[in-house]
Amino acid sequence: MLQKVHDGKTRTVLVAGGAGFVGSHLCDALLLRGDKVICVDSFLTGSRANVRPLENHPKFRLVEQDVCHLLNIEEQVHQVYNLACAASPPSYQADPVHTMMTCVAGTGNLLALAERHNASFLQASTSEVYGDPEEHPQREDYRGNVSCTGPRACYDEGKRAAEALCFDMLRAGRTDARVVRIFNTYGPRMQPNDGRIISNLLVQALSGDPLTIYGSGEQTRSFCFVTDLVAGLMALMDVDPNPGAPVNIGNPGEFTINELAAMILTMVPGRSEIVYRPLPKDDPQRRRPDIARAKELLDWEPKVPLSQGLQETADYFASVLFEPGLRARPSREKPRPGLTGALQIGA
Ligand code: NAD
Ligand code: UDP
Repeated sequence: MLQKVHDGKTRTVLVAGGAGFVGSHLCDALLLRGDKVICVDSFLTGSRANVRPLENHPKFRLVEQDVCHLLNIEEQVHQVYNLACAASPPSYQADPVHTMMTCVAGTGNLLALAERHNASFLQASTSEVYGDPEEHPQREDYRGNVSCTGPRACYDEGKRAAEALCFDMLRAGRTDARVVRIFNTYGPRMQPNDGRIISNLLVQALSGDPLTIYGSGEQTRSFCFVTDLVAGLMALMDVDPNPGAPVNIGNPGEFTINELAAMILTMVPGRSEIVYRPLPKDDPQRRRPDIARAKELLDWEPKVPLSQGLQETADYFASVLFEPGLRARPSREKPRPGLTGALQIGA
């Protein structure tokens, strides 16, 4: 099996999607341990503000590019993290064709880059590969219950195809590819209008607006704080040998959306009430990771309880929302145009 031995010199790490919520925290952590970081991002859902504090760092370089286009990086790269992909349902459904192309063509381009550089590769996959799961909690050997024709398919099936590409490249001995299946992760630097549950509810509570719950609110999710996730990503990238199988990273604490809303209303007291809205199509009913594999292979488990992580995230939103000119409302209809032209890639 392919595996890399680090020579002790400074590592150069490419983070695709590095200006996003998770990616920017990963860039911080890599720089902190002394790596050079090349952040590749198209700013589709990420933000320059997320990486602005790094722009003058001598070991940080920003490349503005869509990963659906071929990447040419001349500097020797040792590790490639692929986090490039819109992640919230409203943003990945805004231009579903581009989402699918990002997962397939984008991952293919980054795998090819890793192959040329003989670099290790880590693919940010998702608990969405389990779809609306019939097994609970979800272990990595569960094959999932995914619609290949519904509105979430561009993301769920795109990520499944990306996993297949990674394992084909690994089996062929072409790239040291690793796959992490990330469960719902939250924290500072989520976009206030990202559309995911924690950003929506916190922004609504802080703004005194009604908290929107889709469906009955009895569906569950398991929420992982971003610093715990980043530790898991780095552990999987660095572990030797490559596990050769996907690894779940998430916090097994499972909450209904009603329980989450109640916690947020206690944390951010105010005038907000709860309003119930229709459940989006194919919305999964239950989600909770089995993290036995991560514990055994990576000695990893989450450390930050939901109450603590929510408070840090609420403090972050309070700081950005009430700066003049920055107030933004959560939305399911995110007006981001995306790049339908991506279908022409490779033509
Ligand atoms: P995010 O939207 O904040 O970050 C994604 C980043 O990728 C953004 O900076 C965006 O501009 C960039 N991007 C999107 N398409 C691109 C393209 N074609 N070319 C170049 N850059 C592009 O989302 P996030 O929550 O930080 O998620 C990061 C990764 O983790 C994603 O791949 C997502 O699928 C995966 N993931 C996240 C979660 C979660 O709960 N946060 C759960 C499962 C999987
Ligand atoms: N959700 C909700 N209100 C919102 C946003 C989301 O009730 O304002 C629900 C959504 O229908 C889902 C859960 O919260 O059942 C998690 O949604 P999110 O978009 O964060 O991520 P998902 O796990 O569905 O990809």
